[in-house]
Amino acid sequence: MLKSISERAEAFVIDAERKCHDAFDRIDGIELENQIRILRAFSNSNVSYRHFTPSTGYGYGDIARDTLDILFADAFQAESALVRPSIVNGTHAIYLAVSGIARPGDTIFSITGKPYDTLETAFGLQGASDQSLKKFGIGYHQIELTEQGTIDEEMIERELQPSDRIFYIQRSRGYSWRNSLGRNELEDVFSLIRYLKKDAVIIVDNCYCEFCDYDEPTGYGADIIAGSLIKNPGGGLVPTGGYIAGKSEYVNEIAQRLTVPGLGGEVGSYSGDYRPYYQGLFMAPHTVNQSLKTAILFSCVLQRLGFEILPKVDDFRNDVVQSVKLRTPENLEKFCRIIQAVSPVDSNVTPEAWDMPGYSDPVIMAAGTFVQGATSEISADGPMRDPYIAYLQGSLTYTHGKIAAMYVCDALM
Ligand SMILES: *Cc1c(COP(=O)(O)O)cnc(C)c1O
Repeated sequence: MLKSISERAEAFVIDAERKCHDAFDRIDGIELENQIRILRAFSNSNVSYRHFTPSTGYGYGDIARDTLDILFADAFQAESALVRPSIVNGTHAIYLAVSGIARPGDTIFSITGKPYDTLETAFGLQGASDQSLKKFGIGYHQIELTEQGTIDEEMIERELQPSDRIFYIQRSRGYSWRNSLGRNELEDVFSLIRYLKKDAVIIVDNCYCEFCDYDEPTGYGADIIAGSLIKNPGGGLVPTGGYIAGKSEYVNEIAQRLTVPGLGGEVGSYSGDYRPYYQGLFMAPHTVNQSLKTAILFSCVLQRLGFEILPKVDDFRNDVVQSVKLRTPENLEKFCRIIQAVSPVDSNVTPEAWDMPGYSDPVIMAAGTFVQGATSEISADGPMRDPYIAYLQGSLTYTHGKIAAMYVCDALM
């Protein structure tokens, strides 16, 4: 059962909040622009109740599916999009994007270090899967980010191989101590890649970054972005799924991979309710805003409690994640257990670290969420390794985030 918050913790958080207002104002400006763009997209597509209607069987002429694709394309400043409940998660969306475009003999060149843990087997970096891209003749190599966590442009030129065609970028931090990548840096890198390689296809893992900035990578030069619908773009309402957006030519290739060559995106039904997909996209700029404000508040509170944090309160944020070095396994456990305890669902569950499929260290996760594993809802996780970093993200409302900060404060003060 939740005990009451001490006056001391409450005062501590309210005092910290005073230092966040400049950062909050900036976030509000971004929400405004994204909401306008999405509202226009709804208006352009004349969205009405008939667009929420489920479909069955082959799903020929599924107006809900087709309109949703157009809406997402507009929202992401892209030519086309593929939004499907049948894309099981972000990992699947990213894998699909890469495997839909790469051909035997091509090489994937990751310029942001190793991909997110759950993709390592798929790319053939670890685990002996007969189904990995490597087994299908698609090579892989990577360069690390610089010490400062930026993309190493010199190394791109030095390590470039003739077979490199897929240029792979992960924007968000994953489980490493670095910041997310923003527009200025990515734009520079995109032009370098275009200059070096005429047939380059730039694929961006956009997880956690959607609507954190005014523009999406597809609006300034990326060929394809991919991500999860139970993170930012689902607005906390979407029950499951993933999206891909980008150049029509490539989205179409990926659609052939998703279903069957020759059939592509024109088949596939969903007998559930499509309304949450529409409403979720509509809500997304605001839920991202609330998540960002929660992250900012936590950064301020945790710093004042003496922990090293990333990003800092006033840093520009390109993802919704707040990292904090908690230094001991006990602190990391405590932190995740508090986040779980202040959640609306499963608040009496005690998170334990466990060997999750696809991750190299045991991972502890707190997710007392309405949608299982949704990280648009407040959640925290971290691998059990030194320096015991917790990654906090999400929060459907800032108020909930603020309450969570008070409880965390009580526990760690
Ligand atoms: C969450 C995440 C993924 C994978 O998403 P799942 O939905 O958990 O499969 C990939 N990349 C990054 C950076 C992520 O944050």
